[in-house]
Parts: sequence; C-alpha cells; structure tokens
Amino acid sequence: MPNWCWGYIELKGKPKDVENFCKLFVFEDEVDKDDSKKGQKYFARSFVHQNWKDFKKEYFGDITTEKEWDISFNVDFAWSCWSCLFEGYPDDWKECVTLKWAIKKYNVNVKIETEEGGMGFEEKIITRNKKPTYDSFDMPKHICQKCGNEQMIASSYDLEDVECYECGEYSFVDELTEIVKEKLEKIKGKK
Ligand SMILES: [Zn+2]
Repeated sequence: MPNWCWGYIELKGKPKDVENFCKLFVFEDEVDKDDSKKGQKYFARSFVHQNWKDFKKEYFGDITTEKEWDISFNVDFAWSCWSCLFEGYPDDWKECVTLKWAIKKYNVNVKIETEEGGMGFEEKIITRNKKPTYDSFDMPKHICQKCGNEQMIASSYDLEDVECYECGEYSFVDELTEIVKEKLEKIKGKK
C-alpha cells in the first residue's frame, strides 16, 4: 500500500477540454479493471472517488456554454503528485501521460494543492505559460499553547479547528498573534 497524498485540483478551460482532461484520472469504476484504461492515455495512480458517469453528470451535465469553465474536485495520488503527474510510469507504460503533456494537449489551466501527512509534505502546482510549475515543502509545524506539543498541520487547515494529539485541546492558535490580528483589522476598518 502506498502512502496516499491528498490533492485538491482546480481546472479552467473550454468545457470539452476540461472534460477530456478529467477523463485522464482513474475513476472508481475503473480501479478494479486492470486494463480498463488500456489503449487510452491516463494519469498513473491518480484516483477520483466517483464513477465516471456520476462525475460527468455532476460537473458537465448542465453546461450549455462553450466559454471557459472552471471546476474543482479531490484527487488521491499514490505517494505524491510529483510521482504520478510529473514522473508518470516508467517508459514501458506508454499509456501514462504527464501533466505537462495534458496541459499542452487540452489547453487547460491547472492548479493543484496536496498534503501528505505521513511523510509530512505539501505540494503546490500552478500553470504558467501553459506549463506546470512545481513546488513542494515541509508541512508546517505548530506548537500547542497548552501543553507544548509540536504537531504537523497542513496549511489548508484552520488552526483553531485542530485538536492537539497530546492534550486534546484546540490550542494551536497563538493568543498574542490573534490579538495583534484583531487590532490590525480594527485599524484597517477605521480607515
Ligand atoms: Zn496540547
């Protein structure tokens, strides 16, 4: 079993292009059938937890425009987005494509944010000049104000909603920082 890397993807482009791009992911109804993607291009080890039919209906069912369209959804990557969408599979798996290939092919603007709690990293991918740019960094650590426990917390979380593994309190928000923030907001409000 791989470590799962949880991803959130935002796509923008012409509806048909975005749809074709989405089809590159592995959908729930395709997971069990090893060769269901045979002969088709696809993203290695990148899973959407929905059947393609339902996904298509939900995201593209009501579209009547040809103009640019944007959608967002979750994708789970095995190990990392880097290993799935940038490295892809080794050469002998000709069907597997990279993000670079897909962006060029479908002219879609892509933004991906991931978090991997096991190894403790996050990734950020954006599209610039029709090419994906990649960045990865350590998941930030925060200190519990009640017990001093240091804990990794993904950037996408609201600190006040995170429970401390050690003491069970919700005390990762530094009170002093909060007071300063509130004061600053008040000052801004007065202007
Ligand atoms: Zn604590």
